[in-house]
Amino acid sequence: MAKKSKYVYFFGNKKAEGKSEMKNLLGGKGANLAEMVNIGLPVPAGFTITTEVCTYYYENKKKYPKELKADVLAALKRVEAAMGAKFGDAKNPLLVSVRSGARASMPGMMDTILNLGLNDETVKGVIEKTNNPRFAYDSYRRFVQMYGDVVLGLKPVDKHEEDPFEVIIEKKKNDNGFKFDTELTADHLKELVEEFKAAIKEKTGNDFPTKPMDQLWGAIGAVFGSWDNERAIIYRKINNIPAEWGTAVNVQSMVFGNMGEDSGTGVAFTRDPAAGKNLFYGEYLFNAQGEDVVAGIRTPLPIAKLKEDDPKIYKQLNDIRNILEKHYKDMMDIEFTIQQGNLWMLQCRVGKRTGFAAIKMAVDMVKERLISKEEAINRIEPNQLNQLLRPIFDLDQKKVAVGEGRLLAKGLNAGPGAASGKIALSAQDAEDMANKGDKVILVRIETSPEDIKGMNAAEGILTARGGMTSHAALVARQMGKVCVAGCGSLKINYRDRTVGVEGKDILLKEGDYISIDGTTGEVISGKIETKPSEVIQVLLNKTLDPKDSPVYQTYASLMNWADKLRRLNIRTNADQPDQAANAIAFGAEGIGLCRTEHMFFGGDRIMSVRKMIVSDTLEDRKAALAELLPLQREDFAGIFEVMNGLPATIRTLDPPLHEFLPHEEKETNELAEALNISVDKLKQKIDSLHEFNPMLGFRGCRLGVLYPEITEMQARAIFEAACDTQAKGIKVHPEVMIPLVGDLKEFKLQEKIVRQVAQEVMKEKGRKIKYLVGTMIELPRAAVTADQIAKGAEFFSFGTNDLTQTTFGLSRDDAGKFLPLYVQNEILPSDPFEVLDQNGVGQLVKMGTEKGRSTRPDLKVGICGEHGGEPSSVEFCHRTGLNYVSCSPFRVPIARLAAARAVVKELSASKPKKTKSSGKGKKKKVSKKKK
Ligand code: ADP
Ligand code: MG
Ligand code: MG
Repeated sequence: MAKKSKYVYFFGNKKAEGKSEMKNLLGGKGANLAEMVNIGLPVPAGFTITTEVCTYYYENKKKYPKELKADVLAALKRVEAAMGAKFGDAKNPLLVSVRSGARASMPGMMDTILNLGLNDETVKGVIEKTNNPRFAYDSYRRFVQMYGDVVLGLKPVDKHEEDPFEVIIEKKKNDNGFKFDTELTADHLKELVEEFKAAIKEKTGNDFPTKPMDQLWGAIGAVFGSWDNERAIIYRKINNIPAEWGTAVNVQSMVFGNMGEDSGTGVAFTRDPAAGKNLFYGEYLFNAQGEDVVAGIRTPLPIAKLKEDDPKIYKQLNDIRNILEKHYKDMMDIEFTIQQGNLWMLQCRVGKRTGFAAIKMAVDMVKERLISKEEAINRIEPNQLNQLLRPIFDLDQKKVAVGEGRLLAKGLNAGPGAASGKIALSAQDAEDMANKGDKVILVRIETSPEDIKGMNAAEGILTARGGMTSHAALVARQMGKVCVAGCGSLKINYRDRTVGVEGKDILLKEGDYISIDGTTGEVISGKIETKPSEVIQVLLNKTLDPKDSPVYQTYASLMNWADKLRRLNIRTNADQPDQAANAIAFGAEGIGLCRTEHMFFGGDRIMSVRKMIVSDTLEDRKAALAELLPLQREDFAGIFEVMNGLPATIRTLDPPLHEFLPHEEKETNELAEALNISVDKLKQKIDSLHEFNPMLGFRGCRLGVLYPEITEMQARAIFEAACDTQAKGIKVHPEVMIPLVGDLKEFKLQEKIVRQVAQEVMKEKGRKIKYLVGTMIELPRAAVTADQIAKGAEFFSFGTNDLTQTTFGLSRDDAGKFLPLYVQNEILPSDPFEVLDQNGVGQLVKMGTEKGRSTRPDLKVGICGEHGGEPSSVEFCHRTGLNYVSCSPFRVPIARLAAARAVVKELSASKPKKTKSSGKGKKKKVSKKKK
């Protein structure tokens, strides 16, 4: 029997009905407000309307469950009792805020309404209670402004229009010759209330609701409605948040930071979210309310200053910081308000951080014994490692730029890294320019949630206003973008499309180059070259001693723990010795795919390749192949040497031959001359090689089946190189891989050649080489008949690029026209060429693995498509029992971490106690039931 749902959860009076584990139901904000109450922190009383109501609302033509009204009224009564005030009372009114709160935090997506419950009657009660008419009317006008915008819809219609409320305020100031908002008196603010209401009526036709209860339901409806606004939808898309999750609504009694100079409001992080240092990090403003700190209207003070300004509150806040870190075992992002010397906590959540900071904090917290190594690994999204590998500015180059007077200004170092690009002054321009292939720096006075697509398209973000916790800084850190915020001396002019600098005779135009250093906050005109990150300097360039690089040491600790945990081996896709060497430095344990044909284009080899392709007779072809043999042998020897005993999978020729043929007149003529045939004849030959569907044509093992001499030459090159390398005292482990096999017989034909040649070469050289012959599984038929194929093949490597093409019947080269739309419209969850399609292609991988091992239990299985370096695909490979994944060298660290995370996930699934939802990234089912 379905129990009656509980739709409303009260918190306050030191007890809450919810707790932090209930994020799915109460949203992140509601669950953590409840948790803070439960651990004894000061939180104004309130209640949370569950996400189930949101789901209900959308499933029932925007109606609420019928019990909701009574539940809300009952909860409101409890809040009134807790706060000793009455909602709508003319003498002693309770005011509330109405706040949205989804499971995963969606910064700035849905707007909060403060001071709700004010009208011409209740405002008098506030005046009486506080003896402060200015405060009362300031609160009232803020309320009308927020409500008018969020609920009644009076807002700018396009990006060029100014906020209509701000226009009215400006006019009021001008009429009175004021410069600051603070100069407005109670009477002015009272006038503003009326003028705001009149503007709302005139522009939207809506009357401003006078009854507090109507205001409340209007606000609740607006929060639920905002779940489906465009900004929210875009944010969900970028962050993989399913639409079914819904938002909760929090109604909470107000506390006031705008009651004078002993009041204030602030936001803080329990550690530095940019660089990860263990420092209290935040900002506050005296005599301010709500989002004043993050809105960038006034530049806030750093939290360290609070220690001087109000040591008592600072100590209390710092104690709370420690309590929260111990309790949550993580870096928390908090919002607080000081009302006349009393501290109130208004929000806490696990703080967003850069990849840089995430790694540093996780490693530090293990060392502080706050979390386990497994937990540390679990906390880092593998892709965040990219931030440690990302280039930084070349210091010499930067010095030159500064010497030339190009240092424009210094802002806040809000998102580490270095970026150079062309100035774009709006999000739309940033997107358009990036689409044209330009690197872009988005330069804005401040950013707002509307800008996220442009921010996503930019290399870096530069703002003139706003602090370390401003929208720009927050979102940039989350996206892993370089960001300099609050660069106050910039004079950005949207109309003239220019950027000037206070006190400097410089004017940059949109499209000009600018460089920003998110680690130092420096803004420099023009382009600056970048150089490799510290990790790269240590590992690849070997120009930095590990001892001198704390960043590298942190990286190394983490990777070390990951390696101890993971079971999946990580190999690399590398065609050349230098690539292979990089991959090994990044921790690769072998080559999973060496594409022999990639070497065919180098130097004048292409001529020999072309000769081989157009030859009409076996002799001619063999002659051309003889030219290629020493070249290939040299290539392979180079690889074996670098691998130094690690296995190397070398694939025989795969692509359709005409890929190598000349396309231009000049090249064609040269080739004809070299072949000593007429241009016409050559052209005929080229035409005859034309294919309608080259991807499904004469390629893969089909080449070797028709022209066994090609496979023969390649096998000879491999084994001669192997013997020569072994003769130098270096161990070799070749694994010869036959591509595009669809049937055991095809494989057998090729295998026979390889083994014969191997035998011959070993005999000639008097050496013994241990080697394997296996195949790529990249056709559905191969997966289906894998039990047969495994009779011959000693290993499988799933070529998931082709397997995706052939499973979907979808040519990757032609998919550009429609695939993005498929993803956009959620016909597919993501591009299957980037993220392995686990339900389709993945099932073939699973079947192929199982069938293959049913014949050959010790069959070695790996994957070598692009997916080998994509975290969710790596996890799939782990679950499916593959032996290794192979990916491009720079993705090797990511794959190592992803493989370790797969183990952590498995471990936490096997001990089902305490399921703490991280709420981010991964999709989870909406829980319809609750306990
Ligand atoms: P967001 O989801 O954008 O963070 P919030 O719901 O946290 O929005 O509201 C924004 C700000 O409004 C808070 O940081 C806080 O300063 C202020 N605020 C919200 N509720 C209250 C309240 N009950 N009393 C005082 N200030 C509040
Ligand atoms: Mg907000
Ligand atoms: Mg907030």
